[in-house]
Amino acid sequence: MQRRDFFRSAAGAGLLAAGLNIDRLQGAAEHKFRFAHLTDLHLKPEDGAEQGVLKAVAAVNALDPAPDFVITGGDLVFDVLEVDFERADMLFKLYRKCIGQLDCPVYHGIGNHDILGWYPESDVAESHPEYGKKMFANRLGDGSTWRSFDHKGWHFVLLDSIEYDEDSEDYLGMICEEQMAWLEDDLAGVDSNTPIAVMTHIAFVSIVEQLRSGANVALNKKIGVTNSLEVLELFEGKRLQLVLQGHLHRDEQLRLEGRKFVMSGAISGEWWKGPHLDTQEGFGVFDVDGADVHYRYHDYGWEV
Ligand SMILES: [Zn+2]
Repeated sequence: MQRRDFFRSAAGAGLLAAGLNIDRLQGAAEHKFRFAHLTDLHLKPEDGAEQGVLKAVAAVNALDPAPDFVITGGDLVFDVLEVDFERADMLFKLYRKCIGQLDCPVYHGIGNHDILGWYPESDVAESHPEYGKKMFANRLGDGSTWRSFDHKGWHFVLLDSIEYDEDSEDYLGMICEEQMAWLEDDLAGVDSNTPIAVMTHIAFVSIVEQLRSGANVALNKKIGVTNSLEVLELFEGKRLQLVLQGHLHRDEQLRLEGRKFVMSGAISGEWWKGPHLDTQEGFGVFDVDGADVHYRYHDYGWEV
């Protein structure tokens, strides 16, 4: 490990320098925190969506103890794939206005509906300065659609799981090559004992399709990340403990050995038409204690 990387990870984790092991810090106040995962908001002025998002925001602000931060899981607005720039601009401004009511910091994740102009119904030119993912990157991502940060001994990674598929002329789930290289470099600076949480809009792992279509049916390329295995292999020798997922609007928890895969339902339920199957409109609340993490799904009480 390079000296610079050692100090970066030690500073981020705040542990190595002190010679401490996070597993022995359970119960220590400085290593206890809460965060919330709000995904699939599908915000728009119609169908009560704005009032719904504001109700969810108020519910996050009312949590006791309060969350240290919020991660949004993509599909923040509905929708900028196939609309003109004026509508897209209005939707992003509406998102900023509503999410700006949160009392804590927010890290924004990108979903398929947050990409400007990819569908032919949109008249936005590819030369437009905010075409494609640039709108999200400029306005919500500090210039990028992926990022990482450290918090109280944990390393958080927000990924961009959406790529354009020339064959279907539609999006598909994929972590692009440039991002894979970035991720490899990012993880090189993370100690093997540091717990890691990853946010991906499109799932790496889910049993939703198996419960719908049978045990031998996999996730198709629009609902599962096509190179999930290569992505997960980058975490070999690292302590990946939590994967936050979205896109399918279900409250799903999977755990295999030390890894938890959690889909935190949807703020919008069934796209603001009520609950989606048995999943109410809601968000994920995560309580972290040392290296331990506990999830519960919070129904914020929206009724259509
Ligand atoms: Zn989606």
